[in-house]
Amino acid sequence: MGIVAEKIRCRCGTPMQEIVKDISWSDSNGNKYTIRNVPTLCCNKIGCYEEYTSSGVQINVSILADEMRKGTLPRTVEYEERF
Ligand SMILES: [Zn+2]
Repeated sequence: MGIVAEKIRCRCGTPMQEIVKDISWSDSNGNKYTIRNVPTLCCNKIGCYEEYTSSGVQINVSILADEMRKGTLPRTVEYEERF
């Protein structure tokens, strides 16, 4: 910590805000999975509302999702960094 990352700008030019959101999906058997509090960047400009998830976060989400599908994690987890 200590280094403040440069604000990432949306392609509309607005600096993006950091938010957390829950990601949910269902598999073909109807099991519902949720990863809570996933860090996401979001543009607040009216009419834009772009969302952006960094590649590091996407990798962590896919690692967690794999473990949830295998049953080594519960179907609802808090986001955590694995990568
Ligand atoms: Zn935007």
